Amino acid sequence: MATQETKTSRRNEALTRRRFLRTSCLAASAAGLGLGARPRRSQAASGAPTVDRIDPGFIGPQFFDEQEEQALMEVIESGSPFRYWGPGTPMKVLRFEERFARHMGTRFALGVTSGTAALDCAVTGLDIGPGDEVIVPAYTWWSDYTCVVHAGALPVFVDIDRTLNINPQDFERKITPRTKAVIAVHLLGGPCDMEPIMDIARKRGVAVLEDCAQCVGGSYRGQKLGSIGNVGIYSFQINKTMTSGEGGAVVTSDPVLYERAARFHDMGTIRGLFTDRTGASRVPTFAGENFRMSELTGAVLGAQLTKLDTMVGQLRANAEAVYDGIKTIDGIRLRHRPDPEGDIGYSVFFEMPDKASRDRCIGQLRQRRVPTSTLSGSVLLPIQESVINKRARHANWPSFSSPEGKAMQYGPDCCRQTLEIFDRFVQVRIGPKYTPRINGYIIDAIRQVHGTLV
Ligand SMILES: *Cc1c(COP(=O)(O)O)cnc(C)c1O
Repeated sequence: MATQETKTSRRNEALTRRRFLRTSCLAASAAGLGLGARPRRSQAASGAPTVDRIDPGFIGPQFFDEQEEQALMEVIESGSPFRYWGPGTPMKVLRFEERFARHMGTRFALGVTSGTAALDCAVTGLDIGPGDEVIVPAYTWWSDYTCVVHAGALPVFVDIDRTLNINPQDFERKITPRTKAVIAVHLLGGPCDMEPIMDIARKRGVAVLEDCAQCVGGSYRGQKLGSIGNVGIYSFQINKTMTSGEGGAVVTSDPVLYERAARFHDMGTIRGLFTDRTGASRVPTFAGENFRMSELTGAVLGAQLTKLDTMVGQLRANAEAVYDGIKTIDGIRLRHRPDPEGDIGYSVFFEMPDKASRDRCIGQLRQRRVPTSTLSGSVLLPIQESVINKRARHANWPSFSSPEGKAMQYGPDCCRQTLEIFDRFVQVRIGPKYTPRINGYIIDAIRQVHGTLV
């Protein structure tokens, strides 16, 4: 009793002091002293883009405002940054999971520490292990490869096509009796062509893991990405859309998969809140990890989620304006988009005849201050030295010590089409705060440059 009282009164003192500081800072800044006056977050995050300085900025932070601040303050004031217990009633991660599942149209969501952790949980959820093969695009982020290797399974690479995502025919060709799953990565803001992928997967009994890290808020024919396959994952790292700096989520409608993922993210154990969602526990305890999300992260993500549609809406509108303006250019070859309405508009993409003209195109657009690059944010996995040499964290790692693992040959020969496509594509970044004037400037620049090169 006595300690509880002391604790409470100490906390009240601290709160009073903090409120006093905040009030006096506000008073001081109101009095024109500038004390405590902070730049507006959205401006601090990127600066408003202008034609002279076209900066797409980091997407999520441009939408930080009082809502994130308020949610964070609630966690701080309650003294409960841990999701399961504390002096207050921690609910931020719990509520975020409920709302995120509703937003994505799945029964369940699990908040974790990163997109990489989410992939490890999803792979565990799918019961992938030694002896299994998992099909992974040759061009994607490291985590799609490492999650397979960490599970002791064998990564099998599939080429991308002009969607910049997996080529469904090549996916079908790479299926063997050992293929347990395919990771359909919705890369660079654009959905995979999910219909053929799902058809092939169903026909051949292959599970589908959707990696939506680069396409949070995207959809395919009206269905939210992540809700189409068996399981979906997201990243909330700063380079993605909605963000808490770091963070990730797993979604699924399968209660066994969900329980396995939830157990893996918490040392193999399960809390009542998860079994309340699934109705009952169906999986025994096993060795897991700690990928639990903190309440501070959950607070920011809860606020960011309410703005996801706005972020994506603005990006998409700007990307569509640019696509509309350039699609009539003579001979232009745009990224093939199986569902343009589901694209989140992260960038606009077009293809040049070869690498040399691609490089000249990027150079000339950059001279005009247009944020242009080769395909970004991922790696050409099969040509990485550590992948070619199949290095895992132990020399006898099961992924590569099986007969299939030993026979597997990575390197450029397993992804020729991907390397060629990579070399021809130009990427122009789109910002959610671009104005019609900026979109028009980008269109004119692409028209001028493309006309002289093709
Ligand atoms: C960023 C990313 C991840 C991993 O997310 P982190 O939060 O950075 O761990 C996984 N897959 C893809 C395609 C990504 O772009």
